[in-house]
Amino acid sequence: MNVIQVKCPSCNSPIYMKQKDRLFYCDRCNVMHSRDEGVERIDFEVGEFSPNAQGDRVFMPFWRVYASFQLRSKSVEGGSLYKLASWLKGGGDSGNLFIYIPASDLDPGSFRRLASQLTMSNPRYATRLNFGSVPRLPVALSKKEAAELADFVVVTMEAEQPGTLQQLDYTLTVNDTKMVYLPFVRSASGLMPAL
Ligand SMILES: [Zn+2]
Repeated sequence: MNVIQVKCPSCNSPIYMKQKDRLFYCDRCNVMHSRDEGVERIDFEVGEFSPNAQGDRVFMPFWRVYASFQLRSKSVEGGSLYKLASWLKGGGDSGNLFIYIPASDLDPGSFRRLASQLTMSNPRYATRLNFGSVPRLPVALSKKEAAELADFVVVTMEAEQPGTLQQLDYTLTVNDTKMVYLPFVRSASGLMPAL
């Protein structure tokens, strides 16, 4: 087994990793950091499980990208920008939104489904202080890669509405990116949200 050892940038304790993960978590001081571009502390939160959650529990990582969207021009046949309009509260051509980028290693179908569901309908949950004894899926996507994928998620979601999107010229500015671990349970049909 290949065990990776790094030191916590906060308390200097050794962190041992048995699996490949982009993020290193110190369970002594509850600090998470990455080493993609030097040592960087990662702002993160952990969602609490629903009391009704049944089955094996696991935390799934998401990069929650807080972005400003500004439409420059559009050519839309048969209506408005259906999905974007519903995210951008107030119905204007600009606004802020949370884009959820799945960060674990998923097949493309699951990636799209989860990104779409959570971005359309932001999850609501209580937070907990730490992971406890619940395992977490490793993070395969860096923070920078997640910010780059935010554009892709927005465009593919809007394009799912057939016939509405002809041309879209916009800017998407990433303001902030946070790591969010959401509770899931293993079921016969795969991992299911357990919020
Ligand atoms: Zn530490």
